[in-house]
Amino acid sequence: MEALNSLEQWDDFVAGRYDPTKKTEDFRKFDDSAPAGVREFYRLNHAHQTRDFVLAKKRQYGARTRGEMGIWEALDYLNTLVDDSDPDTDLSQIEHVLQTAEAIRKDGHPRWMVLAGLIHDLGKVLCLYGEPQWAVVGDTFPVGCAWSDKIVFPEFFAQNPDSAVPQYQTRLGIYEEGCGLRNVDVSWGHDEYLYHVVKDYLPDEALYMVRYHSCYPWHREGQYSYLLDGHDRAMLPWVQKFNPYDLYSKSAERPKLSEVKPYYDELIAEYFPAKIAW
Ligand code: FE
Ligand code: FE
Repeated sequence: MEALNSLEQWDDFVAGRYDPTKKTEDFRKFDDSAPAGVREFYRLNHAHQTRDFVLAKKRQYGARTRGEMGIWEALDYLNTLVDDSDPDTDLSQIEHVLQTAEAIRKDGHPRWMVLAGLIHDLGKVLCLYGEPQWAVVGDTFPVGCAWSDKIVFPEFFAQNPDSAVPQYQTRLGIYEEGCGLRNVDVSWGHDEYLYHVVKDYLPDEALYMVRYHSCYPWHREGQYSYLLDGHDRAMLPWVQKFNPYDLYSKSAERPKLSEVKPYYDELIAEYFPAKIAW
């Protein structure tokens, strides 16, 4: 059995961990009381996300050799990711991304941000390719340099083979001061994968939302400022603007797909060709 009963269990954990009403000092306590599945998930994630693993996955999936799919096709495919263990079977993946997108749309944000909401979790199709959960979801973090102690469950990094590589354990590691996040390898998951799939089609602000929405150590905890360049700093507010829609649109009214589909058909066609390479 996998560590988490469902991907939604992880989403719920993240939403609870980053609850705006929760004081920072409560985070550690919350980690201690985290469900066993969440702890086990992060134990695996932190033990296995080495720099070599990240580079290998970028080579494997960055080439986009898994065939062509349109955005709706990918959404339908992601929706086949159903959890037997989840009592709320109606709350599918497609519902989460639709609620995220609709909440962004209602607040009058730019069209590309609505689209980012719609597609942001499509990288979770990695699960359907057979990747383990720890290589698909979870907070992401830079590899190849010292781990921030603000990363959730930092104690689990002791089991990561990179902890024995002195070059990776300094503040800058293999990087140069201010090199920019684009030159930094971040732990592998649905964010990074989808970035490679959509990078030719969306404005940079949307690409940052896609690529770094799980990078809580950066966008929430303010870590790794020494790796950032001016462009990262300019994009950060957009990633932060996106985050509450991802976390807290869940209880919002349920959008009816048939009603909103024409809007999204037009929006998708504005930015994407009929099919893109995955
Ligand atoms: Fe996500
Ligand atoms: Fe999400």
